[in-house]
Amino acid sequence: MEAHRVLVLNSGSSSVKYQLLDMRDRSRLASGLVERIGEETSRLVHTPLAGGGAEPRERTGRIADHAAALEAAAEELAADGLGLDSPELAAIGHRVVHGGLRFTAPTVITDEVLTEIERLVPVAPLHNPANITGIRTAQALRPELPQVAVFDTAFHTTMPEAAARYAIDVETADAHRIRRYGFHGTSHAYVSRKTAELLGRAPEEVNVIVLHLGNGASASAVAGGRCVETSMGLTPLEGLVMGTRSGDVDPAVTFHLKRVAGMSTDDIDVLLNKKSGLVGLCGDNDMREIRRRVDAGDERASLAFDVYVHRLKKYIGAYTAVLGRVDAVVFTAGVGENAAPVREAAIAGLEELGMAVDAGLNARRSGEPRLISPDYARVAVAVVPTDEELEIADQTFALVGRSGPVGGPGAGQAGPVPAQGDN
Ligand code: ADP
Repeated sequence: MEAHRVLVLNSGSSSVKYQLLDMRDRSRLASGLVERIGEETSRLVHTPLAGGGAEPRERTGRIADHAAALEAAAEELAADGLGLDSPELAAIGHRVVHGGLRFTAPTVITDEVLTEIERLVPVAPLHNPANITGIRTAQALRPELPQVAVFDTAFHTTMPEAAARYAIDVETADAHRIRRYGFHGTSHAYVSRKTAELLGRAPEEVNVIVLHLGNGASASAVAGGRCVETSMGLTPLEGLVMGTRSGDVDPAVTFHLKRVAGMSTDDIDVLLNKKSGLVGLCGDNDMREIRRRVDAGDERASLAFDVYVHRLKKYIGAYTAVLGRVDAVVFTAGVGENAAPVREAAIAGLEELGMAVDAGLNARRSGEPRLISPDYARVAVAVVPTDEELEIADQTFALVGRSGPVGGPGAGQAGPVPAQGDN
């Protein structure tokens, strides 16, 4: 039997998320999460999904490091008859946050590729080291197995220079690789393609604004299947208001905090990344709780909701101008898929842009891609659930699976390695 399974790994600094998929029908066999790695209170939750699934199983107690986390996950998979030593496993697909300019497509990991991912650590100090640890751990477990890196930044490498450049001194920017890279690219790619499918058109024919609203949030403008603008920049801090991140602020706020408030660079980093956004504005970052408070008349929660929605609306307008013609605005991720009031408020008043939301359609709950705009609206407004793991599995299998691409037009190839110098 040909190898047909793909393990997807998303390694964070203290957590590992995994999913095992059967690429013959792209179904999920199992998924799991190991969190608080290295602490006494580590926890693994493993969910068998094959054949209707079974109850999740939980382990608690110290899991010392990423290697121990992957070992524990492998044991749980083996208990389901899905051991990672199985010849049915075709590859491991890794989410890698930062691929710089060099990695424009999923790439089979070689020593040289890993070195290049390491060279990007200065521009992704929070993310790439954890991704590298995950890759090394998986390599140690199955040294002969193809490992593929799927980059969050890859989809955005088609952005024109006019969108990717900050207007700062070019030599300084280039010396330190400072430019707008964008993130959540796997989701933006998947969702924009699914939206074209929902509209019954080819991705090359449609212009889409994708609003990925999770705990992190980003918008992108996708013209004919290619990203032309996105809201995150050098790091995932720029752009929309997020759960704990500020999104756009005047950069002078940072000097001000340093000079006037006496904060250190690290304090400011923590303030803008962890104590801002919805949490900074009202103390909560869960949109469900914020809506509950808004409905109860809480002013801080209302302010947070309004700032969040205002920013979103501003980006929808800006990206309409960037695209010239918009065929669809699509909401995805935790908030985008579930929070009808956010969708309603973000689109309210945009009739002049051809955008409207039907209250009945917007209120309907479903896990399927769906339109929420009325028939008369010129622009389709849609909800399309994202699936980053499936996209990573598709891209990984397309690259290494012997049966060839199964993932449709988004399934990529190993990119040629352009001579990009330090980029
Ligand atoms: P992550 O960026 O961590 O992957 P998700 O895409 O899972 O995040 O989104 C998580 C967020 O989605 C939560 O913090 C919460 O604000 C929001 N969310 C989840 N379910 C709902 C819901 N039913 N209603 C409103 N918001 C929701």
